[in-house]
Amino acid sequence: MDALILKLRRRHRGHFGLEPAVVSYAPGRVEILGNHTDYNEGFVLSAAIDAGIAFGLNPSGTPESTLFASDFDESVRFPAGHPGRTDKERWSNYARGVYSLMRVKYGFEPQGFLATQLGDIPIGSGLSSSAALDIASGLAFAAFHGLAPDKIDLARIGQKAEHEYAGVNCGLLDQISSLFGQAHGLVFTDFRTLQVKSVLLPPGYAFLVANTAVKHALVDSEYNERRRRCEEAAAYFARVLGPRVKTLRDVSWDDLERHRGSLDPAVWNRAAHPIGEDERVLKGVDLLHMGDAAGFGRLMFESHRSSQIYFQNSCPELDTLVEAAHATPGVLGARLSGGGFGGSIVALIEEARAESVARALAAAYEKAHGHVIEPRVVVPSAGARLI
Ligand code: ADP
Ligand code: MG
Repeated sequence: MDALILKLRRRHRGHFGLEPAVVSYAPGRVEILGNHTDYNEGFVLSAAIDAGIAFGLNPSGTPESTLFASDFDESVRFPAGHPGRTDKERWSNYARGVYSLMRVKYGFEPQGFLATQLGDIPIGSGLSSSAALDIASGLAFAAFHGLAPDKIDLARIGQKAEHEYAGVNCGLLDQISSLFGQAHGLVFTDFRTLQVKSVLLPPGYAFLVANTAVKHALVDSEYNERRRRCEEAAAYFARVLGPRVKTLRDVSWDDLERHRGSLDPAVWNRAAHPIGEDERVLKGVDLLHMGDAAGFGRLMFESHRSSQIYFQNSCPELDTLVEAAHATPGVLGARLSGGGFGGSIVALIEEARAESVARALAAAYEKAHGHVIEPRVVVPSAGARLI
């Protein structure tokens, strides 16, 4: 992080000839446990990672703003009061959206700025470089306008910027994780109440993320089917268990077992995944409190199994990596992370064996699928902040 901030200051000086008056930093994130639970109002464990986006700015003294993407060596200008969105420099839509939405929420007078953004998160590899950009820019804009926004409000602004300006339909997990990250800790989020707490990871462990770079076709229609089935299952349980059931969050594994015969098996299977995940997340928090990394790792393998048999959101590439992880010394658990149907796996590893684990996974992947991948160690890190 420190090196990234230094580089940001240097690039900002180089581009604008000014020392940035405001500097912020926001990390990327990884989903650790709790898959497809967010829209079922359940629980997720995630972590902010040791890579992020740095954002620096000065007042421009004019009604115009300039945004410089140092990694792309591109810059854009727009009226401070009307950042709008663009189909050209799409990387600018995140900050444009955040600025516009903050103005709507907080009603400040727009002021021109000269801003630089710079990152060290691999883009599009499942570590949410975009959420880091939302949050880093949001924190900098807040400081620029003398605001101290509530973290959940800022997370919502970031999410809305993704929906309305970047055209990406994401949940809130990415922004929450970036904001609430803790060094050596996981972020526990209750997606009904949006209460967040941190849970320490026992010392000596880290995570490894391996990105398949695969994205299977029809992902959107597959997602829609999963969501629809989850809603159907929740409606069924509201009928049989009463109106206390609002979402699958309110259905226990025991409830589910009791209704195995009476619910359409296709619906039952889909519901089993988020319901099982909720229980694993709660159990996982207890295990981490007891320092039981091995037990936590087993829950990660169970999570992947649940993806395979119930939710069917895994794919051969993800399975290769999880199976290889299972067979590799130094790995305690592994599972697909995020939406599925491609994307990444995350493994809980002994930090001291990170290199050999990364090599073993890359070798297994190349052997099975003919592609070279670069698994990456991620260390749970502190959340977004002003520097
Ligand atoms: P991710 O999973 O990494 O969030 P997305 O496709 O959601 O992938 O977001 C990636 C987009 O975010 C990039 O295409 C770019 O527009 C923007 N972005 C991410 N990192 C940077 C960066 N360092 N500089 C400029 N734009 C960035
Ligand atoms: Mg993103």
